[in-house]
Amino acid sequence: MPMTRRDLLVASARVLPVLGGGGLVWAGLETLGDGAPPATLDALSSAAGAQELLKTAPRARFWTTAQLAGADCLQCHPSPDVLKKARHAHDATTVRCLLCARGCTLKEGQRGTCRARVNVGGELRSLVYGRPVSMHVDPIEKKPFYHFLPGASALSFGTAGCPLRCKFCQNWQLSQASPEDFGEPFTPPAAVVDTAARSAPVIAFTYNEPTVFTEYLLEIASHARPRKIRSVMVSCGFMNEGPLSEMCRSLDAIKIDLKGYSESFYRTACGAELAPVLRSVRQIAKSGVHLELVNLVVPTLNDSDASLRGLARWIAGELGADVPVHFTRFHPDYQLLNLPATPIATLDRARAIAMDCGIHYAYVGNVPGHPGNHTYCPSCRKAVIERDNFFVSSINLKDGRCAFCRRAIAGVWA
Ligand code: SF4
Ligand SMILES: [Zn+2]
Ligand SMILES: [Zn+2]
Repeated sequence: MPMTRRDLLVASARVLPVLGGGGLVWAGLETLGDGAPPATLDALSSAAGAQELLKTAPRARFWTTAQLAGADCLQCHPSPDVLKKARHAHDATTVRCLLCARGCTLKEGQRGTCRARVNVGGELRSLVYGRPVSMHVDPIEKKPFYHFLPGASALSFGTAGCPLRCKFCQNWQLSQASPEDFGEPFTPPAAVVDTAARSAPVIAFTYNEPTVFTEYLLEIASHARPRKIRSVMVSCGFMNEGPLSEMCRSLDAIKIDLKGYSESFYRTACGAELAPVLRSVRQIAKSGVHLELVNLVVPTLNDSDASLRGLARWIAGELGADVPVHFTRFHPDYQLLNLPATPIATLDRARAIAMDCGIHYAYVGNVPGHPGNHTYCPSCRKAVIERDNFFVSSINLKDGRCAFCRRAIAGVWA
């Protein structure tokens, strides 16, 4: 029997963590690029397992419609001029999602760009609530978090869906899939926390963009905290301020993929915008929740000195010297099979520029055995944490301080 698109996505997503997030390459897969229109509910209803999905799809949070009491017209209309008109009409069942910076306006039956939220009869519902995919225990270093509970295990999972369309996505089997592509059973938040209690001290929301399953994430985190299980998120930072402030209150650490430092790169390579991501990064830093940044360095697209220096200067100036920054190696994947893997010399250059701009903890990622994988004390330059690939091989920290010179090392260590 020929393999269907659904079969491929399911099989690929299941092997994802085994392949270190790199996943499979399937050049023949249909392209779900910028131009893909949102799937309609009709398409959803005809898909296998879709009825089951809709049965457990709860009312989403973070959206508005003209029908809601006290609805603010300016959350939907681009200009206040509309309010000057004596009367303006609203489509009673149209909703606007306020979860991420895309701000999808959805007519009845339409789905958002992320494919995870759908307008059912004038109510926005989440198709990914309770539908975790690809659940595995990973080292926290693989997220990567290098300054948060080194050596801890993290119960990691994602769902289907993402608001972005990164051409270099290393997890496209999940991010560019639809929830009905996976027939995973409904798993209530408390069951995820029970699984973590048996397997890992940390729950990591990762693999796809966790913003699309915010409702699920927030409930899991609220069940986890009283049981002393920490919750962390790996995100693109494209969410709006309101949902992010709830995330900051509920999560213990956030890693943001700051994919480049120009609007044109975000537009052409990711189908997104840079400004909302920078706003989110500032907000997280201000909130005090532990923050780390990743910059995937893609040859020819975001690896110029100007781009790397702009990024490093912004980080050092806006966030200070202590936010860890990981420059990770790109491998040809998804729609960028034509580019080579990032040369190690480029990653060394990125790290050197960051340190020249004053960043204390700059790393080279996805290169096993590279000395830029270790944490060095900014004062005495000795290695305070040594790593072998995703595993910690030695720790020379005492009460969060360098064991050699006693300088405090930024992070969450216990
Ligand atoms: S979360 Fe999804 S539905 Fe909501 S605005 Fe973003 S892409 Fe659109
Ligand atoms: Zn209006
Ligand atoms: Zn030291």
